[in-house]
Amino acid sequence: MTGNSRPEISLYFHVPFCTKKCDYCHFYVLPNKPELHTLLAEGFDKEIALRSQELADKQVVSLYFGGGTPSLFGPKAIARVIDQVAKYTPLAKETIEITLEANPEQISQSLMQEYAAVGINRISLGVQSLDEALLKKLSRTHGVQEALQAIERTVQSGISNISIDLMYDIPGQTLETWEQTLKRVETLPITHLSLYNLTIEPHTVFFKYRESLAKELPDQNTSLAMYLTAIQMLSQHGLSQYEISAFARAGLHSRHNIGYWTGRPFLGFGPSAFSYWEGVRFRNIAHIHKYIQKLREGTFPIDFSEQLEPDKMQRELLAIGLRVLEGVELSAFSELEPTIKELETHKLVERAGSKLRLTPRGVLVYDSVASEIV
Ligand code: SF4
Repeated sequence: MTGNSRPEISLYFHVPFCTKKCDYCHFYVLPNKPELHTLLAEGFDKEIALRSQELADKQVVSLYFGGGTPSLFGPKAIARVIDQVAKYTPLAKETIEITLEANPEQISQSLMQEYAAVGINRISLGVQSLDEALLKKLSRTHGVQEALQAIERTVQSGISNISIDLMYDIPGQTLETWEQTLKRVETLPITHLSLYNLTIEPHTVFFKYRESLAKELPDQNTSLAMYLTAIQMLSQHGLSQYEISAFARAGLHSRHNIGYWTGRPFLGFGPSAFSYWEGVRFRNIAHIHKYIQKLREGTFPIDFSEQLEPDKMQRELLAIGLRVLEGVELSAFSELEPTIKELETHKLVERAGSKLRLTPRGVLVYDSVASEIV
C-alpha cells in the first residue's frame, strides 16, 4: 500500500505476435498480421473496460507488455492501451514502470523514441545469447551485431532502463562460450538481466528432436558451473543477483516482477494471459478469435480459474517469495513453522532479523526447496 492507501496492483498485456516462431518456443504466438493487430487492439479496449471496477481506486505500480514480440504492435497501439487504462484509474507518470519486450532485429532509434514518447520507460530485449552459432541453434532471427546495436539504439533513444534476457543450457553451449558471452555482457550499458536455462517443452520443434538435442546439452555439473559463473561475473560488473534468475544494478530491479514474487495482485489482458486477483488465479483463452468473441458478448474471456485454499496459498507465497534473495517477512508465515524448521535443519533457509531467506546452498537447489514447501 502507498501513503494514499490505494491498493497496489500490476497489469500485464500479452501481445502474441512474432515474425517467426522460434524452435524452442512454447508460448502462445501468432503471425504478425495487421488484421490480428486490429483484433487485439479491440480486445484490449473491451477487456480493460470490463475490468473498470477492479481498476478503480488502485495504485498501478507497473504495466508490462510481454509476448510474443510486443514491439511489433507499434507505438500507437501501445499508447491506445495506456490511454484506455488511464480512463479507469489514474496512472502516476513519474513513478510507474512501463516495460515493453522487444526483439533486437526490430529496433531503430526512431522507433524507440516513439515508444519513449508514449510512456515506455523500460525495455526488455530478447538477446538470449551473444554467440552467433548458438543464436542460429535457437533459430533466432537476429545476430550478435544486431543485439549489440539494438542496445545502443535504445540508449540513444533516451530509454536508459534496459533489461536483457540471456539463456544457458543451450544445446552445443560450453562453459567457455558461456564465459565469452558473459564477458561481452560486461561491456553493455544494461541495468538488468534475466537468466533462463533452456528447457525443452512439448509442442515445440525442439521437442521433436529432443533425443538428438539431448546429446548436445551441457551436463548437470556444467549447467551448475554456468549458473555460478554468471552470478560471479555479473556481480563483478555491478549486476547483483536479487532473485533466483534476476540481476540488477542498485535500485533497478524489475518492479513488475517483484510483484509476482511478493503476491501483488495483477490482471493479465490478451489471449493466454494469467491473472492473480483476490486469491484467485485465472487464465484467458489462448485463442484470439475465441478471446474476442467472448469480449464482444460482454463476458470475461477466461478458460481456467482456481481459488486457492488458504494453506496452499500461504505455501505458494512462501515458495515464490523465497525467490527474492533478501527473503520474506517471517511473521507472515508462522503457520508454516514446521516446514521452515525442516528446511533450516538442512541449511537451505536461514533467519535474518525479521526475514527468512535462502542460504547460498538453498539458492542452488531452489527447485527442491520450492517443491518441499508446496
Ligand atoms: S521471439 Fe520469443 S515469443 Fe516469439 S517465437 Fe521466439 S521465443 Fe517465442
